[in-house]
Amino acid sequence: MPKGFTLEVNPFVYLAKYNEDGKWTQEFKEKPHLSKDEEEAMPAEKRMELLHQRNSFPELPLVNYTTQYGMGCFEGLKAFPQKNGSLRVFRPDENAKRMETSMKGLYMPAFPPEMFVEAVKKVVAGNKRLGFYPVYDPEWEKEDFNFGHASYVRPFSYSEGAIGLGIARFPWVVMVSTGVGAYFMADKPSAVTTNMIRANHNGTGWIKCDANYVVATLAKKQANAQGFMEAIFLDACDRKYVEEGSSCNIFFLLNDGSLVTPELGDTILPGITRKSIIQIARDMGIKTEERKIAIEEVLSEAKEVFVTGTAAGISYIDSITHEGKTAEFNNGKIGDISHELLITLKGIQYGAKEDKFGWMVDVEE
Ligand code: PMP
Repeated sequence: MPKGFTLEVNPFVYLAKYNEDGKWTQEFKEKPHLSKDEEEAMPAEKRMELLHQRNSFPELPLVNYTTQYGMGCFEGLKAFPQKNGSLRVFRPDENAKRMETSMKGLYMPAFPPEMFVEAVKKVVAGNKRLGFYPVYDPEWEKEDFNFGHASYVRPFSYSEGAIGLGIARFPWVVMVSTGVGAYFMADKPSAVTTNMIRANHNGTGWIKCDANYVVATLAKKQANAQGFMEAIFLDACDRKYVEEGSSCNIFFLLNDGSLVTPELGDTILPGITRKSIIQIARDMGIKTEERKIAIEEVLSEAKEVFVTGTAAGISYIDSITHEGKTAEFNNGKIGDISHELLITLKGIQYGAKEDKFGWMVDVEE
């Protein structure tokens, strides 16, 4: 059984390569494996060895622009098990577009979105054929799918071998997947503003590139060390407006009943969950705004706060601490609107609610 968000690379993987003739070539590979049950019964050390083999790609050069200078980008998306035994992927076309944007943002040849979507579907289906997939459990629904499992697909770019600063001209796009298990909420899902700066104007904050995650990880670690679950970034210029979390977007339900999320610019990652929640909220008749929102307004006016991202879907935030002042939201519990949005999103993903926006994509099996 997969634990939280840990890596156990599934056997069926994908590699595409951009060639000198300007074309992408691709291959699917079946890495060494036993059956899932046999692997789970293996002695820990043997199992580690096997998983290490699956996470090794001797065809990829170790020293390159990606490993040395962070010139790479990636995506993260999930396939959800359904009651009828199938797996469906949430909005892979959106991840495909964002990957294309990220690669262009790094001046690389961009990976065609159609190839991306097809490859994701085949990776998920291929692993299912080999027995590496999550099985729907009706118990999950009782807990709002907070303990639901999924298959997480991680596509990423990887440059050709090189030393010295440069741009990848002949990149690979690799896709691996891993099971993700129950997402455990922190005991206290609290957040604190950080004085670190994730992104500045005219930088790379708007794409999903490797380099953005250095500061984000450091800020989150600092927040964790102070006893908070998440770090919240403020804008780099005024140090006043809320931007996002370490790897999630953020929403505020204000006392006037409006739902507000920071507007996108060139410093915030356009989350696919964010976009979906805006659509669900508007469909539910909630006044939803994308605009600048100052931390002081949040502290005085917010009554529910939640963050969004592929990993957790929606996670409520019980309090925010900023410069020593703490505001608590909804007595530290998930609010009604946040809960409604959460069960709608997860219901669509696990097939318990109608997919009224046409977001879920079948994988051919
Ligand atoms: N912001 C950042 C910085 C992220 O890394 C992520 C996760 N991809 C998100 C927001 C949420 O994006 P999504 O909903 O597409 O997962």
